[in-house]
Amino acid sequence: MKKYNKEEIINFDGKDTLAAFRDRFYILEGITYMDGNSLGLLSKDSERSLMRVLDEWKTLGIKGWMEGERPWFWFAEDMGDMASPIVGAKPGEVVFSGTTTVNIHSLISSFYNPKGKRTKILADELNFPSDIYALKGQLKLRGVCPQKHLILAKAGKDMLLNEQDIIEQMTDEVDLVFLPSVIYSTGQLLDMELLTAEAHKRNITIGFDCSHSAGAIPHRFDVWGVDFALWCSYKYMNGGPGASAFYYVNKKHFGKEPLLAGWFGYLKEKQFDMLTEFIPAPNAGRWQISSPGILGSSAIEGALKIILEAGINNIREKSLKMTSLLAGLLQEKVFSGFPGFKFVTPLKEERRGGHIAIEPPEAVRINEALKARGIIPDLRPPNIIRLAPVALYNTFEEVWNVVETLKEIMDTKEYEKYSKQRKAVS
Ligand SMILES: *Cc1c(COP(=O)(O)O)cnc(C)c1O
Repeated sequence: MKKYNKEEIINFDGKDTLAAFRDRFYILEGITYMDGNSLGLLSKDSERSLMRVLDEWKTLGIKGWMEGERPWFWFAEDMGDMASPIVGAKPGEVVFSGTTTVNIHSLISSFYNPKGKRTKILADELNFPSDIYALKGQLKLRGVCPQKHLILAKAGKDMLLNEQDIIEQMTDEVDLVFLPSVIYSTGQLLDMELLTAEAHKRNITIGFDCSHSAGAIPHRFDVWGVDFALWCSYKYMNGGPGASAFYYVNKKHFGKEPLLAGWFGYLKEKQFDMLTEFIPAPNAGRWQISSPGILGSSAIEGALKIILEAGINNIREKSLKMTSLLAGLLQEKVFSGFPGFKFVTPLKEERRGGHIAIEPPEAVRINEALKARGIIPDLRPPNIIRLAPVALYNTFEEVWNVVETLKEIMDTKEYEKYSKQRKAVS
């Protein structure tokens, strides 16, 4: 990478067409927030949509279900349609409902159909633990032994997954492939288009957990023909802690039966007929289970408005510029001078998501030292520090400052003041 000085970096901010979006967010005072991959920040737009719904509850009571500005009764479908251009989906295919892990259970219960020789689920050993727990639970519910029937594709020594290895494991014993889009720890982006095409060549159903890519990179579920996908709304989508999650079901599967059925998956026009026979909605809405958590989830409306205004392609473009700069500066100022640092995230643009994962020599202590200096990264076992400069609210200057601070921490050995013991949430 070309060598930059601070003025040139500040110039990037001056020319950045997304720079104005930062003012729409509540930026934490005195903090350089590099953790939007874990919890996105609150925007003023989100605050407004949340407060509006609170006010609707105050002034409309139960009438809010039909008379809210965006009637609560259709909120899940409404927000799903609003999000669909961000992931490349058609109306009716995306729903804002449930939570990530609950949606994994709900969708896998319909999309995993062991029969004859085809009884296996193919996933990967780096996936988020909750996804693996859910897959094992689903196998047990079908009376299938997870030890034999859950295949976890292995990562190489470099902690990266290899698409060709995964494809080789798509045998005629596999019924379903379920993978992350971006691996939460390493930041590697898998080639979803290729994996989908290869799974379908072999008659295998494929779904993705896009929690670490939605809101950071464009998706084309429609073009790729992905069978189903799901993702949380509180990372790059800025929907708020524990808000409802999104799921996507390709319209070719609208006829499938939801087995974790619930009354909010009912044909909406007849839901209040209160019949005991289940008539599912004619679209992805049928996988909903319960009344949507309107109050805890209405920040998403403002958050989606911002992403749509900014444009997901522009967000990706800026994100790549920021992560390239971050990696380049780290290499120049830190990695070259202090042994033991290495990149975990692949540095090729098309192979990485929105964050950069590094493996420093003393991850726990360096993470603490960064936090003491007002920088919020996060730590993932065994010894990865993740840094996520987010296109909508971080600046290039912040990227520069993070690297300068890390360099100082290394120069002065400031990290030695901190314990090697990892905290419960770090
Ligand atoms: C964030 C994340 C989750 C979180 O699950 P919840 O049910 O929302 O708590 C699950 N899987 C992946 C891959 C994630 O990135």
